[in-house]
Amino acid sequence: MELFNTLSKKKEKFNPIDGKTVSMYTCGPTVYNYVHIGNLRTFIFYDILKRAFELEGYTVQHVMNLTDVDDKTIKGSQETGTSLEDYTTVYTNYFMEDLKRLNIKDNIKFPKATENIDEMQSIINELLKKGYAYEADDGIYYDVSKFNDYGKLSGMTVNGKYSRIKNDDYDKENAADFALWKYWTENDGKVYWEGKLKKGRPGWHIECSAMSLKYLGKTIDVHCGAVDLIFPHHENEIAQSEAYTGQKFVNYWVHAEHLLVNGQKMSKSLGNFYTLNDLVQQGFNPLSFRLMVLDSHYRNRLDFTFDSLKKYEKLLKKIDLSIKSLEKTEKYEGNNNNARVQQIQDQVNKLLENFKAAVNNDLDTHSALVAFFSLLDLCDSTAEKGSIDNLEYKLLKDAVDKMNGFLGVYVEYEIPKDVEELAEKREEFRKQKNFVEADELRERINGKGYYIADLPRGFVITKNYVE
Ligand code: AMP
Ligand code: ZN
Repeated sequence: MELFNTLSKKKEKFNPIDGKTVSMYTCGPTVYNYVHIGNLRTFIFYDILKRAFELEGYTVQHVMNLTDVDDKTIKGSQETGTSLEDYTTVYTNYFMEDLKRLNIKDNIKFPKATENIDEMQSIINELLKKGYAYEADDGIYYDVSKFNDYGKLSGMTVNGKYSRIKNDDYDKENAADFALWKYWTENDGKVYWEGKLKKGRPGWHIECSAMSLKYLGKTIDVHCGAVDLIFPHHENEIAQSEAYTGQKFVNYWVHAEHLLVNGQKMSKSLGNFYTLNDLVQQGFNPLSFRLMVLDSHYRNRLDFTFDSLKKYEKLLKKIDLSIKSLEKTEKYEGNNNNARVQQIQDQVNKLLENFKAAVNNDLDTHSALVAFFSLLDLCDSTAEKGSIDNLEYKLLKDAVDKMNGFLGVYVEYEIPKDVEELAEKREEFRKQKNFVEADELRERINGKGYYIADLPRGFVITKNYVE
C-alpha cells in the first residue's frame, strides 16, 4: 500500500512498525458547537484510511481525541451558564450521532483532553527540566528556537523574531512560542487544574501529544488531520513529543484537503457552513454526502453544492436498487462448472483487483467507486435474467459485500411492515390491471417516504431519495 506522507512530501510504501497492527491518531473535534460537513469530510477520510488498513489485513488501533477544554469551549460554557462538562457533552453526543449516520466505524477510542491533564502536566514539567519550555507571567511556553528540527513537517522556520502566542487561534504564517500551560485568569471561571503545576489549564497542542503518547506509544504509525493542522498544530506536536521522548513521534503524516463552499474553506468563523442536519432536513440521505466525499481524492479540495449532492443521491439510489434486485432474484442450484459461472468469476476477479489496486494507490477512492459501479452493472445485467445460479449469486454478492465493506455507502435498513403490505396490495392490483388503484397505493407509499421500483421479477422497495 502506498500513502502520501506530508513529512517526506512523497508517496511511500506503508509498513507499520510491528508489521501487523497500525497505531493511528486522528485529531478530533473541538466540542463547542455542532461539527460542520467540512469537519465531517475529514472524519470520513479517517474512516476510509482505517478501512484501507483493515482491507490489507492490519488490525488498527484508532484514537480520536475530543478537545473539551480550550478558549472556545470555556467561552461557550460561560455564555450558556453551564459547566464545561455539561456544555461539551451535548456537542459530543451530537458528534457521535453524525458519525453513526455517516456509517463511520465505531472501533475508535475517544479520549477527552480533560481526562488526561495529569499526563500533560508531567510532559510540561519534563520539557521545563530539559530546557525546551520556560515560564512567563501568564503561563508556560514552548521555546521553538530550542528544537532543532522545528519546521520539518510544514517547512515553516523560526526566524529569530521574538513572538509568543497564548490564544488557541494561532498565527498560521509565523512560527512563535506557544502556550503549553495557561495560568488561571478570572475569565476561566471554574475551569482550572492544579497538581503538578500552578493553577491553570493546558494549551491545545499539548493535549494531542499527551493522548497520542499515552494511548498509542512514543512512536506511532500514522497521525492525521486536515491540511490546516499541518502548521502550527502538528508541527508543535512534533516539537513537544520529540523533545520529551527523544524519539521519532510519527512515521506517516497523512492530511486531507478542505471542503469548500464557493471556493472558500467551509468554517464556522466565516459562517459559510452546513451541518449534517441541514442536509437531512432537506431530505438528503447522509450517505450521499459520504459518497460525494469518496468520489474525490482526499488530497484534492472538494467544492460542496446541493446540486452535486443531488447527483450522489441518484447514485445512492442506484446502489440500493442494484443490491436489492440482486438479492431478489430467484436462485437455483445449478451446474457449478458451467461457462457462465466461470465468466462471471473472471469478471468479478478483475473488478476486485482494480478495486484493491485503487485503494492501495494512496486511497484512490474515485477509481474504487468506478470498480464498484461496474460490479453493480454486472449485478443488474445478471439480475435482469430473473433467476440465476446460486454460485453466480454468491460470487456477485460476496464481491459487493467486500467492496462495500470498505466504501460503507450501503447500509441495510428495515422497510416498515405497513409499507410492505401496501406494496403487496399494489402488486395484486397491477396483476389485475387495475392501474388506477395501483398508482394510488404507490402515492401512499411515497408519502410514507418509500419508493417502489418494478423489475422483471416483481418489485423492490427503497427509501425515497432526493430527485
Ligand atoms: P476543529 O473542530 O475545528 O478542531 O476541526 C476538526 C477537524 O476538522 C480538524 O481536523 C480540521 O482540520 C478539520 N476541518 C476544519 N475545517 C475543515 C474543512 N472546511 N474541510 C475539511 N476539514 C476541515
Ligand atoms: Zn490534534
